[in-house]
Amino acid sequence: MRVARVALQSIVAHAREAVPAECCGLLLGRDTAILEALRTRNIADEPASRFLIDPQDHFNGRRDARRRGLDVVGFYHSHPRSPATPSETDRAEASYADHLYLIISLAVDPPDVALFRLDDGGRGNFLRLPFVTVR
Ligand SMILES: [Zn+2]
Repeated sequence: MRVARVALQSIVAHAREAVPAECCGLLLGRDTAILEALRTRNIADEPASRFLIDPQDHFNGRRDARRRGLDVVGFYHSHPRSPATPSETDRAEASYADHLYLIISLAVDPPDVALFRLDDGGRGNFLRLPFVTVR
């Protein structure tokens, strides 16, 4: 996978602004590349420990991406204090098989970023993917 530097920079900025809450958003791109990150609201009841993408933001983001010839290839969210690995909540609530899930951890500096694909073979089964940052 390739991840555009501008997308990563946008995600880092969003994660820092959202502290102590988790931030979340959409990953836009094409099959092997994440080109942009699009912010969405986190409407979870306990936003410091979980995320729930605002459905209206999700809908609008998909529509806008399609208009520009991009796909929603996955989602990102932040872990303000824990590692960049899926939490039990993440595993229980992940529902988009074959989509990418990017997690950014602010527990370390510089932030740690990990990319996963949700396998549809088992509930909450995330496969870690290597990625390179590109322009
Ligand atoms: Zn999480």
